[in-house]
Amino acid sequence: MIIIFGNKVRYKTLATGQFYCSQCKTQRDYELRQARNWFALYFIPIIPLNQLGEFVTCLTCGMNFQKDVLSAPIPSNTPLDRLAREARTDLESGTPIEMARQKLINTGLSRDLVEQVITQAVGSDRKRCPNDHLTYRATIQRCAQCGAWLENLPRT
Ligand SMILES: [Zn+2]
Ligand SMILES: [Zn+2]
Repeated sequence: MIIIFGNKVRYKTLATGQFYCSQCKTQRDYELRQARNWFALYFIPIIPLNQLGEFVTCLTCGMNFQKDVLSAPIPSNTPLDRLAREARTDLESGTPIEMARQKLINTGLSRDLVEQVITQAVGSDRKRCPNDHLTYRATIQRCAQCGAWLENLPRT
Protein backbone atom coordinates (compact mmCIF):
# COMPACT_ATOMS: atom_id res chain seq x y z
CA MET A 1 0.00 0.00 0.00
CA ILE A 2 1.31 3.45 -0.91
CA ILE A 3 0.72 6.20 1.56
CA ILE A 4 0.35 9.54 -0.13
CA PHE A 5 1.06 12.53 1.99
CA GLY A 6 2.14 16.10 1.50
CA ASN A 7 1.36 19.68 2.23
CA LYS A 8 -1.81 21.42 1.30
CA VAL A 9 -2.48 25.11 1.66
CA ARG A 10 -5.86 25.94 3.11
CA TYR A 11 -7.42 29.35 3.32
CA LYS A 12 -9.60 30.57 6.07
CA THR A 13 -11.67 33.73 5.71
CA LEU A 14 -11.12 35.92 8.75
CA ALA A 15 -13.08 38.97 7.75
CA THR A 16 -14.92 40.59 4.87
CA GLY A 17 -15.64 44.18 4.07
CA GLN A 18 -14.90 46.93 1.61
CA PHE A 19 -11.55 48.40 0.72
CA TYR A 20 -9.96 50.53 -1.98
CA CYS A 21 -8.55 48.12 -4.56
CA SER A 22 -5.60 49.70 -6.35
CA GLN A 23 -6.07 47.29 -9.24
CA CYS A 24 -9.77 48.11 -9.79
CA LYS A 25 -9.13 51.72 -8.76
CA THR A 26 -12.33 51.83 -6.78
CA GLN A 27 -14.02 50.48 -3.68
CA ARG A 28 -14.52 46.72 -3.72
CA ASP A 29 -15.54 43.84 -1.48
CA TYR A 30 -12.65 41.94 0.00
CA GLU A 31 -11.96 38.85 2.02
CA LEU A 32 -9.20 38.84 4.57
CA ARG A 33 -7.79 35.34 4.32
CA GLN A 34 -5.34 33.39 6.32
CA ALA A 35 -3.23 30.83 4.54
CA ARG A 36 -1.86 27.87 6.42
CA ASN A 37 0.04 24.77 5.45
CA TRP A 38 -1.59 21.56 6.46
CA PHE A 39 -0.12 18.14 6.58
CA ALA A 40 -2.29 16.13 4.26
CA LEU A 41 -2.82 12.45 3.95
CA TYR A 42 -4.41 11.21 0.76
CA PHE A 43 -4.99 14.88 -0.08
CA ILE A 44 -7.03 15.38 3.05
CA PRO A 45 -5.64 18.05 5.38
CA ILE A 46 -5.02 16.46 8.75
CA ILE A 47 -2.69 18.57 10.84
CA PRO A 48 -2.34 22.35 10.71
CA LEU A 49 1.26 23.38 10.13
CA ASN A 50 2.86 26.78 9.80
CA GLN A 51 0.84 29.84 8.97
CA LEU A 52 1.69 31.48 5.66
CA GLY A 53 0.31 34.86 6.61
CA GLU A 54 -2.80 36.85 6.08
CA PHE A 55 -3.70 38.67 2.94
CA VAL A 56 -6.54 40.59 1.43
CA THR A 57 -8.20 39.36 -1.73
CA CYS A 58 -10.27 41.62 -3.95
CA LEU A 59 -13.40 39.66 -4.79
CA THR A 60 -13.78 41.47 -8.10
CA CYS A 61 -10.35 41.18 -9.71
CA GLY A 62 -8.91 38.42 -7.52
CA MET A 63 -5.70 40.30 -6.72
CA ASN A 64 -4.06 39.63 -3.38
CA PHE A 65 -2.74 42.43 -1.22
CA GLN A 66 -0.81 42.79 1.99
CA LYS A 67 -3.05 43.11 5.00
CA ASP A 68 -2.03 46.74 5.54
CA VAL A 69 -4.07 47.91 2.51
CA LEU A 70 -7.01 47.83 4.88
CA SER A 71 -5.59 50.65 6.98
CA ALA A 72 -4.71 52.78 3.93
CA PRO A 73 -6.94 55.82 3.55
CA ILE A 74 -9.57 55.62 0.82
CA PRO A 75 -8.85 58.29 -1.81
CA SER A 76 -11.78 60.63 -1.70
CA ASN A 77 -13.73 61.07 -4.85
CA THR A 78 -16.50 63.47 -3.99
CA PRO A 79 -17.75 65.86 -6.68
CA LEU A 80 -15.85 68.65 -4.91
CA ASP A 81 -12.57 66.73 -5.08
CA ARG A 82 -13.13 66.17 -8.75
CA LEU A 83 -13.85 69.84 -9.39
CA ALA A 84 -10.79 70.83 -7.39
CA ARG A 85 -8.59 68.46 -9.36
CA GLU A 86 -9.99 69.79 -12.63
CA ALA A 87 -9.46 73.38 -11.57
CA ARG A 88 -5.88 72.60 -10.55
CA THR A 89 -5.17 70.95 -13.90
CA ASP A 90 -6.65 73.94 -15.73
CA LEU A 91 -4.66 76.42 -13.70
CA GLU A 92 -1.44 74.46 -14.03
CA SER A 93 -1.84 74.37 -17.79
CA GLY A 94 -2.24 78.14 -18.02
CA THR A 95 -5.93 78.92 -17.61
CA PRO A 96 -6.40 82.39 -16.10
CA ILE A 97 -7.61 82.32 -12.49
CA GLU A 98 -10.62 84.40 -13.48
CA MET A 99 -11.75 81.75 -15.95
CA ALA A 100 -11.19 78.86 -13.57
CA ARG A 101 -13.12 80.77 -10.91
CA GLN A 102 -16.04 81.41 -13.26
CA LYS A 103 -16.10 77.76 -14.27
CA LEU A 104 -16.34 76.71 -10.61
CA ILE A 105 -19.04 79.26 -9.89
CA ASN A 106 -21.01 77.91 -12.86
CA THR A 107 -21.06 74.45 -11.27
CA GLY A 108 -23.05 75.93 -8.39
CA LEU A 109 -20.30 75.93 -5.75
CA SER A 110 -20.56 78.61 -3.12
CA ARG A 111 -18.22 81.59 -3.41
CA ASP A 112 -16.36 80.56 -0.26
CA LEU A 113 -15.66 77.09 -1.59
CA VAL A 114 -14.62 78.45 -4.96
CA GLU A 115 -12.04 80.72 -3.30
CA GLN A 116 -10.79 77.81 -1.18
CA VAL A 117 -10.36 75.61 -4.22
CA ILE A 118 -8.59 78.40 -6.15
CA THR A 119 -6.24 79.23 -3.28
CA GLN A 120 -5.35 75.57 -2.84
CA ALA A 121 -4.63 75.15 -6.54
CA VAL A 122 -2.73 78.39 -7.07
CA GLY A 123 -0.92 79.13 -3.82
CA SER A 124 -0.11 82.66 -2.77
CA ASP A 125 2.25 83.56 -5.63
CA ARG A 126 0.46 84.80 -8.71
CA LYS A 127 1.25 86.42 -12.02
CA ARG A 128 -0.66 89.01 -13.99
CA CYS A 129 -0.94 90.02 -17.62
CA PRO A 130 0.01 93.68 -18.09
CA ASN A 131 -2.56 94.08 -20.91
CA ASP A 132 -5.80 92.52 -19.75
CA HIS A 133 -4.95 92.04 -16.07
CA LEU A 134 -5.88 88.38 -16.03
CA THR A 135 -4.09 86.57 -13.20
CA TYR A 136 -2.34 83.24 -13.32
CA ARG A 137 -0.54 80.66 -11.31
CA ALA A 138 3.09 81.73 -10.68
CA THR A 139 4.41 78.87 -12.82
CA ILE A 140 2.72 80.23 -15.96
CA GLN A 141 4.85 82.39 -18.28
CA ARG A 142 2.52 83.79 -20.90
CA CYS A 143 -1.03 85.11 -20.98
CA ALA A 144 -3.47 82.65 -22.60
CA GLN A 145 -5.58 85.53 -23.86
CA CYS A 146 -3.03 87.82 -25.56
CA GLY A 147 0.28 85.98 -25.36
CA ALA A 148 2.04 88.71 -23.35
CA TRP A 149 4.72 87.82 -20.80
CA LEU A 150 3.24 87.81 -17.34
CA GLU A 151 4.53 89.96 -14.52
CA ASN A 152 4.83 88.90 -10.92
CA LEU A 153 2.09 90.05 -8.67
CA PRO A 154 3.06 91.08 -5.14
CA ARG A 155 1.90 88.55 -2.53
CA THR A 156 -1.48 89.29 -1.09
ZN1 LIG B 1 -9.83 44.62 -7.44
ZN1 LIG C 1 -3.12 89.11 -21.62
